[in-house]
Amino acid sequence: MRKLNKPIDSLGTPRFAGISTFFRLPWVTDPEGLDVAVFGVPFDGGQSYRTGSRFGPGEIRKMSATVKPYNPSLGIAPYDYLNVADFGDCPVNPLDPNASRDMIEKFVERVVNAGAVPVAVGGDHSITLPILRAVAKKHGPLALIQVDSHLDTGDAYFGTRFGGGTPFRRAVEEKLIDPHKWIQIGIRGSVYADDDYDFVKAHGATCITGDQIYERGFRWVLEQVRQLQDSVCYCTFDIDGIDPAFAPGTTAPVPGGPTSSDGIALVRALADFRKMVGFDLVEVQPSYDVGSVTSMLAASLMWEFISAYAVARRRASSDDRDTVTRVQAAE
Ligand code: MN
Repeated sequence: MRKLNKPIDSLGTPRFAGISTFFRLPWVTDPEGLDVAVFGVPFDGGQSYRTGSRFGPGEIRKMSATVKPYNPSLGIAPYDYLNVADFGDCPVNPLDPNASRDMIEKFVERVVNAGAVPVAVGGDHSITLPILRAVAKKHGPLALIQVDSHLDTGDAYFGTRFGGGTPFRRAVEEKLIDPHKWIQIGIRGSVYADDDYDFVKAHGATCITGDQIYERGFRWVLEQVRQLQDSVCYCTFDIDGIDPAFAPGTTAPVPGGPTSSDGIALVRALADFRKMVGFDLVEVQPSYDVGSVTSMLAASLMWEFISAYAVARRRASSDDRDTVTRVQAAE
């Protein structure tokens, strides 16, 4: 039986005490032996509106101390099934976005090559492109679940092709994602022109708008998302996909959209997915937050992902055992 990391016992050391790590787990500098590596990517040089999401990882670490080790909704203690650690913050260069993207890609490559699933915390949404590069290098073109109020499929802003508003157009161009297995959830609000949706439509992606969610309800959204459950899938969660009434601490808020409960239900649904290969949570901007509600939601969503992934792994290992038993019985 391998030894799995456990969080600090919050009944021994209270949650407001001690040094911050994600979910009070050990901090490691080598991802070897991990099933899940949680890390920060404190880069916000791709943001053209409110900057400051570079402070997201630090704040979310702090709020993640409030998360307890058992998930009653999914019926699992994830740290009994997964070896999880805080892999620290990815080194970035705040004055050089190009260098930063390379640094992020290399950092995530280490995680992926160690056989661990990356759980990244931004930073702005530009960090997802180099993460997808590293993950797709190992797993091929990915199915993608994108929670977001914005399309993030612009070609260039201010003459620059790499930023928080363009990562998914680049990801399609670079064949990192399969656009037919790409679902956007929560897209809404004003855009620059009536052709802003053309890229997504032309590539056969599923764009679920805030208006559709309002009309059809979030259960309908969960049914759509389940169409990807047998695919090799990555989930990128822009916190601005959630109504700023629930998540005000973000870089480019758009009123309306799904609630925090909807977001939690969505991530929980990933428990039924066969092969999740990564998750990121981006665009938390602590200085616009109120009472840390946004950072707390971000920590909860990451926790739900870790729990959901643990459920999926538990199911896969019992399937393996069943197969072994069946084979032995046949012999
Ligand atoms: Mn975004």
